[in-house]
Formats: sequence, C-alpha cells, structure tokens
Amino acid sequence: MTTATIAPTSDAPVGEASSVRPAAPHVNFNQITNEQFQEAADHMKLDQEVQLLLRTPYRELIVQIPVRMDNGKLELFHGFRVQHNAVRGPYKGGIRYHHEVDLNEVRSLAALMTWKTALVDVPFGGAKGGVTCDPTQMSRKELQSMTRGFAQKIDMAIGIYRDIPAPDVGTNAQIMAWMMDEYGKKHGYTPAIVTGKPVNLGGSLGRDEATGRGVMIITREACKAFGTDIKNARIAIQGFGNVGSWAARLISNLGAKIVAVSDVQGGIFAEKGLDLDKVFSHLKNTGSVVGTPGTKSVTNEELLTLDVDVLIPAALGGAITEDNVDDVKAKLIIEAANSPVTPYADQRLRSKGVRVVPDILANAGGVTVSYFEWVQNLQQFNWDLDKVNHELELRMVKAWNAVYQRHTDEKIPLRTSAYTVALAKVAEASRQRF
Ligand code: NAD
Repeated sequence: MTTATIAPTSDAPVGEASSVRPAAPHVNFNQITNEQFQEAADHMKLDQEVQLLLRTPYRELIVQIPVRMDNGKLELFHGFRVQHNAVRGPYKGGIRYHHEVDLNEVRSLAALMTWKTALVDVPFGGAKGGVTCDPTQMSRKELQSMTRGFAQKIDMAIGIYRDIPAPDVGTNAQIMAWMMDEYGKKHGYTPAIVTGKPVNLGGSLGRDEATGRGVMIITREACKAFGTDIKNARIAIQGFGNVGSWAARLISNLGAKIVAVSDVQGGIFAEKGLDLDKVFSHLKNTGSVVGTPGTKSVTNEELLTLDVDVLIPAALGGAITEDNVDDVKAKLIIEAANSPVTPYADQRLRSKGVRVVPDILANAGGVTVSYFEWVQNLQQFNWDLDKVNHELELRMVKAWNAVYQRHTDEKIPLRTSAYTVALAKVAEASRQRF
C-alpha cells in the first residue's frame, strides 16, 4: 500500500501523527475539559442553568463511512461531528484523522472550541470532528474517498452559517479542498464551508502559519509578563507538525534558542540552539527531524523534562501527566496542543510555581485566522498577508491582556482566568437568547 502523499501547504509534515500511540492513551479528555470548566464555573459562580446548558454538547453525530480500499476490500470507518455550543455564532472546529479518535475526545475538543472562540472574540461557537483512521497508512485515493464520504455524511449538519470545519491533526489544506468540493456538488460553489483551504481555492494567506504565529505571540507576551528575556530564552517544542514547526520558526525569529524539537519518531537537541534550516531540510528529505546532522537524539519523554525556560507541547493531548510532571523543569509551559496537561499534572505544576498558558489561549491563532478566511470568503474579497497578521496580532494580544489582567487581579491560575473570560461571554449570550 502506498503512503498518503497529501500536498502540504508548507514545509510542515502532514498526517504522520498517527504512527504511534499518543503519549497517554488512558487519559479521559472529556473529563479534563469538564474539570477545567467546573473549576472556572465555580470560581465565577456561574448560573446553574447556564452550566447545565454548557456542560453537554448540543448535537453529536456518528457516521459510518464505507471505503473501497486499493486492495479491493471494503473498509468501514467511523466519523464524528460534535457541535458543542453555538450561542455566539455558527459552530466551528477542526477535523482530526487519527487512529485514537473517539467520541469522548471529539466531545472534549468541541467544548474547547466554544471557549477558544469566545476568548479571542470571534463570532463562532464550538465544534470538532474526526475520523478514526490512520492516514499515514492510506493512499491518496483512499483518503480522498474517505473524506468525500465523511463530507456527504455530515452534510446535513454543516453550512456556512451552521458549522464550518477546518484542519486539525492528520488533516490539511488538501483534505479541506476535497470537503469543499464534495459540499459544492450539492450546494454549488461554497468556499466558506471550510477554512484552512489551499490559498488558490479561497484559503487565506497566513492561515497555514496562524496557530504557530499565535503561539509565538502568546509566548512573547508571557515571557514579557513573567520576566523571561525571550532573546535569551531556551525553548523545547514537542511536535513538529503544522503548529510546532511554525511556532519554532517564528519564535526563533525573536532571538530565542530552540534547543529541542521532536516528532512522533523522537526528538533532537542542540545545547547552543538548533539550526532550523537544517532541521527543515532533514525533515523534508527523511520525513522526520530525528538524525538532523549536528544534533543529539532525545526521546519525547526526555524532551519534556529538559532544563529549559519554556516548554511548548505541540503534539497530542495528555503529554504531561502524573507519570512525568515531577520531572518537568521548565518554569513556563505554553499549551500549543489541545489538553497536553492533565488536571492532576496541572495542580502539581501550580504547586511548583510553574505557569501554564492554556490551550484555549495559546493555540487560538488558528481559529482566529479561520474567522478571517470565512469573512473573506463571504465577502469574496481577499486580504493581504500583512493585514491578516496584523489583525491576528491585535486579537491575540487583546485576549492575552484580558487573561493576564484577571489572573493578577483575582490571583487565579491562567487557565481559570482564560476560562472565566470565555465563559462570561458565552453565558451572557446564553442569557440573552433564553
Ligand atoms: P500535525 O498532524 O500537523 O502535527 C503533529 C505533530 O506531532 C507531528 O510532528 C507528529 O509527528 C507529532 N507527534 C504525534 N504524536 C506524537 C507523540 N506521541 N510524541 C511526540 N510527537 C508526536 O498536527 P498540528 O496541526 O500541528 O496539531 C498539533 C496540536 O495542535 C494538536 O493538539 C492540535 O489539536 C492542536 N491545534 C492545531 C491547530 C491547527 O491549526 N493545526 C489549531 C489549534 C490547535
């Protein structure tokens, strides 16, 4: 069987996230999101009726996707779309292709999207989707067939003012192009149905790098606020896909030393800072960062416990758990991935004085530029890259300031602060509607 050759829109690799199990397969992601929600809801004494509405998703769709594989056999995939809440606007959220995708995980990721969109003040609600599959083991033809099948099955639940999918782990601009094309067969030309499309097909300039750029902005602001000089900061990044690789590139442009990065196959380390050009070129030639000349190998576990100023988990959820939290040495963690820190680990980090900038803030740059893409599609008017980056900068800094202000005023962790800022907006919209 040939390996998928989806054309990436950047140097970032695609889909290889699936070839090993995630860091902590036993983690119950929905429980993580619920606990985080509850802590903030209790802190702000959120109305019980609003809590009731927000604790469970509005709609959950599970679909069957039969695909005739290249070997002639019929394989049955399962796809999910969970729509958590849409009081602030249409549902919005990525599509994940990974062998560990299940309803529980998608539910959790959908709720995170509700808080994330509220936090950066884009007029969307929260949703997420996924298909349980291993895209690295599928041919381009099989992937296309599965994607089109998925798009058909969720057709009744999506729409430009209803629910707008985007890429996530294991999916990319090519997958979005197929989804748009499939939707268009029935509804006519509808570029706003998905974001993260190829620029040539109505995608936005700057969308590919947007999440990594947002991570860079938040890392910069957090370093400033907590007294770390970004120019001399030593940074380790777990995950070198779309988010991790862009974050590495953009943060190193600020002068920081990226001393370690990793992908699913392992990590690399250089005491004086990695030469990222070499890392990208090695990745392009071999499919992994491992073995980049002039670097030492480290395991993913070792990377998380390196003596660095800033640790950026940018792979999958459940990276920092009770098993390794006590070995973490970084004083600042920026959650570029969704749910990389379990609640137990979060409490331990708090007690050790480690600051954790939560996912709903740190990785919100992606959905922010997805919003810009949607706006451009609706208006049929394209923005230039400077405008996209400028608007992203404004929204990310505004969200950071709101979270940091509440963190210092109310002496609460950054995560609780971010949740309360977001929840207040969702709660207000709920009260106004009901
Ligand atoms: P991706 O598929 O492009 O890259 C994932 C990276 O993680 C790859 O380098 C892969 O090799 C690595 N990886 C997978 N399993 C690993 C493991 N067990 N240990 C170490 N590395 C591992 O995905 P992405 O789009 O970069 O997403 C990364 C994270 O960021 C996910 O949690 C995703 O939900 C979150 N996120 C992504 C976006 C976006 O716009 N792409 C937006 C918000 C949040």
